[in-house]
Amino acid sequence: MRRALVLFNQAMRWHDNLLLSEQAEFDQLIAVVVLNPDDYLGRQYGIQRASIQRLQAQLKLLLNWQQQWQQKQQVLHIRIGPTDLCLQQLAQLYGADTLIAAEPTAPEQYQQLLQSGLKLKLFDINSLLQHQLRPDLATLPKSFSAFRREREPDLWVQPPEQHAVTTQFHADPSLAVDTTALDFINRYHQPTAALFNEAAGLERLMQFIWHHQAVIDYKQNRNALDGDWNSSLWSFYLANGTLSPCYTWQQVLVFEQKQVANESTYWLRFELLWREYFRWQMRQHGRAWFSKNAFRPPLDFSSPQADPRFELWCKGETGLPFVDANLRMLLHTGWMSNRGRQNVASYLIFELQQDWRLGAAFFEQHLLDYDCASNWCNWAYIAGVGNSSARQFNQIKQALTYDPDGDFVRHWLPGKMATGSSVHQPEPQVPIQEFWLPFLQQLKVSL
Ligand SMILES: Cc1cc2nc3c(=O)[nH]c(=O)nc-3n(C[C@H](O)[C@H](O)[C@H](O)COP(=O)(O)OP(=O)(O)OC[C@H]3O[C@@H](n4cnc5c(N)ncnc54)[C@H](O)[C@@H]3O)c2cc1C
Repeated sequence: MRRALVLFNQAMRWHDNLLLSEQAEFDQLIAVVVLNPDDYLGRQYGIQRASIQRLQAQLKLLLNWQQQWQQKQQVLHIRIGPTDLCLQQLAQLYGADTLIAAEPTAPEQYQQLLQSGLKLKLFDINSLLQHQLRPDLATLPKSFSAFRREREPDLWVQPPEQHAVTTQFHADPSLAVDTTALDFINRYHQPTAALFNEAAGLERLMQFIWHHQAVIDYKQNRNALDGDWNSSLWSFYLANGTLSPCYTWQQVLVFEQKQVANESTYWLRFELLWREYFRWQMRQHGRAWFSKNAFRPPLDFSSPQADPRFELWCKGETGLPFVDANLRMLLHTGWMSNRGRQNVASYLIFELQQDWRLGAAFFEQHLLDYDCASNWCNWAYIAGVGNSSARQFNQIKQALTYDPDGDFVRHWLPGKMATGSSVHQPEPQVPIQEFWLPFLQQLKVSL
């Protein structure tokens, strides 16, 4: 009897999921998810990999996925420990020799699958460019624009095929959770944690495109710092694999065909292409992305050194209100707008002169939509390492544009009494940058 494990990490969804389909070469399939505590509680550059909120959200997602299997009278195994060892043990228990899984982009995750020693059968279910559209890494265009020009014409994707869940899944229910997993769950499970599961992701997709039709004004609104309908908030679900990017893309196309196609609807797909671009960039250069100058030689993986300015930045206490407010939002909610991310990153790298990898590690810790490729490649992009030249932002100009009345800053820094845009005035300890000066002169109190 031939058996394979099916790993549902980054694949906890029923729609557009090849991992659920029939695998003719096997008699039985064993469903499992693994949570590797090191990916959350381990440290990089002295920074914990994940906040307790991110760990709890992941744990809640796993348990919710297991419940969904139970409701279908099926068994999903949960294992908590080093991914390779957990998979080896389960494979031994069931006599499986193959691992079926979603193809990761993070080099570390890929390594963990390889180390299991099982034969790998990977499906790239979280990329837009799948199957015959899969790019050749050797000839991957360097810049986003070239990548987009080359790949966009291919992406009139068909509706993703619906795969009936195969009847090959089999398990001994008594093995669903082992004692290590139970101990961990008892310790960290928090019922009130955020739940970014498939149902919530599909609901958000429908609401944003069809019910609120927020997609029609996306381009004008996407740079807002907060707000329920200014951007899609699909990142949580795309990052954890509960929402299929092909289905998402295709829903935007259907909306364009049936309702409205404008610059905004196009721009949403444009942003999904950024995600795609970084996925393939991450796969092309792998671990080299974590070097000081990303993949530019010579590779330097030595740990970056932080100074007290980094600690203040992490707490949202730099004294530059626009930066601090965005960071406080991240600390409180686990999310920050794209505009906020760009500004705080630029400030850390260029004004505070810190190694970009410290900021990336801090974002990895706190972002509930953390995605290895999107996070590390965006940081490298702003720092100007890797494929891009540096992108420095003028925080005062940006504050005037995106928070003209200062309401966002006053919301996240409630101690600030200044009215109008004058709330963006840097505190006395902040060295004034010359390129801020014309914009500092425009700060006004409200009348
Ligand atoms: C320094 C920095 C770090 C980031 N870290 C992450 C991260 O860990 N995880 C993550 O998902 N995104 C990351 N982003 C990209 C972007 O900020 C978020 O995807 C976006 O803000 C999420 O909100 P949304 O879903 O409402 O986005 P929308 O504006 O509605 O965009 C739709 C989708 O397109 C994709 N997307 C949009 N912008 C980008 C981008 N610049 N790069 C890659 N994909 C994009 C996302 O999947 C997003 O959900 C980062 C950006 C920066 C500048």
